[in-house]
Amino acid sequence: MAIRDGFSGSVGNTPLLRLVGLSAETGCDILAKAEFLNPGGSVKDRAARHILDDAERQGRLLPCGTVVEGTAGNTGIGLAHLCAERGYRCIIVIPDNQSAEKLDLLQTLGAEVRPVPPKPYKDPDNYQKIAGRLAEQLPGAIWANQFDNTANRQAHFDTTGPEIWADTGERLDAFVCATGTGGTLAGVARYLKGQDPRVRIVLADPMGSALYHWVKHGELLAEGSSITEGIGTTRITANLEGTPIDDAVQVDDPACVAMVYRLLREEGLFVGGSSGINLAAAVQVARQLGPGHRVVTLLCDRGGLYAGRLFNPAWLAEKGLAAAAGVKG
Ligand code: PMP
Repeated sequence: MAIRDGFSGSVGNTPLLRLVGLSAETGCDILAKAEFLNPGGSVKDRAARHILDDAERQGRLLPCGTVVEGTAGNTGIGLAHLCAERGYRCIIVIPDNQSAEKLDLLQTLGAEVRPVPPKPYKDPDNYQKIAGRLAEQLPGAIWANQFDNTANRQAHFDTTGPEIWADTGERLDAFVCATGTGGTLAGVARYLKGQDPRVRIVLADPMGSALYHWVKHGELLAEGSSITEGIGTTRITANLEGTPIDDAVQVDDPACVAMVYRLLREEGLFVGGSSGINLAAAVQVARQLGPGHRVVTLLCDRGGLYAGRLFNPAWLAEKGLAAAAGVKG
């Protein structure tokens, strides 16, 4: 299909890339779905589109309605594009410690941005809960609720999973994926296991997230912290519930940063930190499986969003990560 219908029609059907250097080094086929090529620049365009389609179908979102979401980034960017395209008002509640690039971009895309002080999830003034209350108070508004609205994982069950299955010629040994809301992992894992139960599902987790310990030992426990954005969680969201997961790999910041810069210098790919977590974990899984296997993961978003942080030598030096990146701080 050569012609796609606007922004909505351009979401998904991203290419599956073979990472040549990493494949040669491991003797495995290391494949990554280029989600940064979605029209809003990330994997979250898929969830955003599905959430709006679902709300429209159910008659909850009517013409000229309002979409409210609590988001630290990519979901808000996807929603802002879609709301502009479909004529909705878009309100984004965002923790005020997020990068200026993200706030500026959301505003440029026409969203009303409401920065709020960062608060833990259990606090009633957590940004997600503020978004929920705001949607309740505004007539004609819906709360996208990406964490617990399972239209999110359905997007990946309906699109990302089938695309990976088709593009690999129905042959892969493992799927590796980091989680924020859990939508991507949950939808893709369910789809792939339904096609072939032998496909190994591996969660890639940054430090400071509780899921690694949960998969390994059945208990939510978070230790440390991470510079990555958009991934890592301390609770089991409705999207994540019941996901078939075989194993988990934990990736620390130096390994993530080293991989992000390796992708840039050796593969020519300019992507964000969660892609570094995914690829570092994929290489570990490839080593566990041994040569001749095929491991699939995702390149979640573009590096440009992180220009002031991950791609800023002074910032990296401040975090003690300049050596990992191979830059002078
Ligand atoms: N990577 C990035 C850059 C993201 O913004 C997100 C979403 N917050 C993810 C990965 C994780 O995706 P999901 O919410 O489907 O778990």
